[in-house]
Amino acid sequence: VSVAFPQATPVSVFPPCTSDFYHFDDLLTPAEQALRLRVRECVEREVAPIMTKLGALNIAGGTIKGYGCPGLSVTANAIVTAELARVDASCSTFILVHSSLGMLTISLCGSEIQKQKYLPSLAKLNTIACWGLTEPDYGSDASGLRTTATKVDGGWVLEGQKRWIGNSTFADILIIFAKNKDTNQINGFIVKKNAPGLQATKIENKIGLRMVQNGDILLQKVFVPDEDRLPGVNSFQDTSKVLAVSRVMVAWQPIGITMGVYDMCHRYLLERKQFGAPLAAFQINQQKLVQMLANIQAMFLMGWRLCKLYEAGKMTPGQASLGKSWISLRARETVALGRELLGGNGILSDFLVAKAFGDLEPIYTYEGTYDINTLVTGREITGIASFKPVV
Ligand code: FAD
Repeated sequence: VSVAFPQATPVSVFPPCTSDFYHFDDLLTPAEQALRLRVRECVEREVAPIMTKLGALNIAGGTIKGYGCPGLSVTANAIVTAELARVDASCSTFILVHSSLGMLTISLCGSEIQKQKYLPSLAKLNTIACWGLTEPDYGSDASGLRTTATKVDGGWVLEGQKRWIGNSTFADILIIFAKNKDTNQINGFIVKKNAPGLQATKIENKIGLRMVQNGDILLQKVFVPDEDRLPGVNSFQDTSKVLAVSRVMVAWQPIGITMGVYDMCHRYLLERKQFGAPLAAFQINQQKLVQMLANIQAMFLMGWRLCKLYEAGKMTPGQASLGKSWISLRARETVALGRELLGGNGILSDFLVAKAFGDLEPIYTYEGTYDINTLVTGREITGIASFKPVV
């Protein structure tokens, strides 16, 4: 290592967290602080070299109460998300897709029998979930989806395609949204891994979140028994109940990513010397580091406020969208500054910063692109929806 990386420690040895400049820890309850510490220690020790032992952390299921789930507050779940993302964004996405999309949909829209049947093993990560809304021709315009659900004796037949679905290539259960052929409304279904007619193919060559397997799903006359239709999904609006929480969680991924990048840069500037002095001694470098730190403080405050608004039952869709879009934008800027600070090593994934660049791009785009989330907020503050152009 010392030959390949003179004057710098590579990413597998994670530096201590130094980005809490405004003492955000003080804003957390003692229980939230303890959870944060527990997750931080585990991901630094275990996830930085290899992702293991996540099941034992008891974080899957996040805010869900009962059924073996941890019943965390939204704030505590956000802290967990950031701690995972600080060391490995893919790891946090894997958990978010499984927990804040898959499990949460069962919890919010499933029957009591479905919750008892599926949630306990999902909470232990003994089984894995994914969440399929997006289709090849319906991304931002997801409500227009074309996958159909036809009622037959004893169940439903699903027909169509999904794209980009995280965890779908190995998930044990796939939450699939489809248009009910009779009502033309969106319904939700729990599809089992080995259902005949179901095929999930890994999308190759992603530049970010490379550990997360995103898949193209083909549904060819896939039979789903009545007992696996989610009774709480009867329109597209029902997916919003889930997205409202998951968007807050996604907003915490860039916060965690930039915290990790800041820590890497902070250590690097103190370790590497040029012109006979540590890089940290140059004023321009300090200015960039301070700008990164300032961004993190602002992102954290916005994310924290979103959690508290949600917990108080006051958060609006526009607030969640603004948080997700603005925080992702600031994170892009923050990581770009970090990349500059590392010079040539800023383009090597060994120092986390280049990896963070790639990881932020899909986060900027999924759960509503920056533009779509901006338009959600724009609609809320003006009363005018501008999603559909007049052509
Ligand atoms: P498009 O909708 O084609 O958009 C292309 C561009 O046009 C974007 O810049 C967009 O902002 C802009 N645009 C589109 N419409 C408008 C408009 N009305 N006004 C202004 N600008 C507009 N989906 C799932 O269901 N489950 C998952 O697990 C999942 N995981 C994902 C993981 C990754 C790594 C990625 C990349 C995507 C994932 N997605 C998932 C899909 C994701 O939600 C979509 O990619 C996203 O909604 C954008 O859709 P699109 O890619 O089709 O882009």
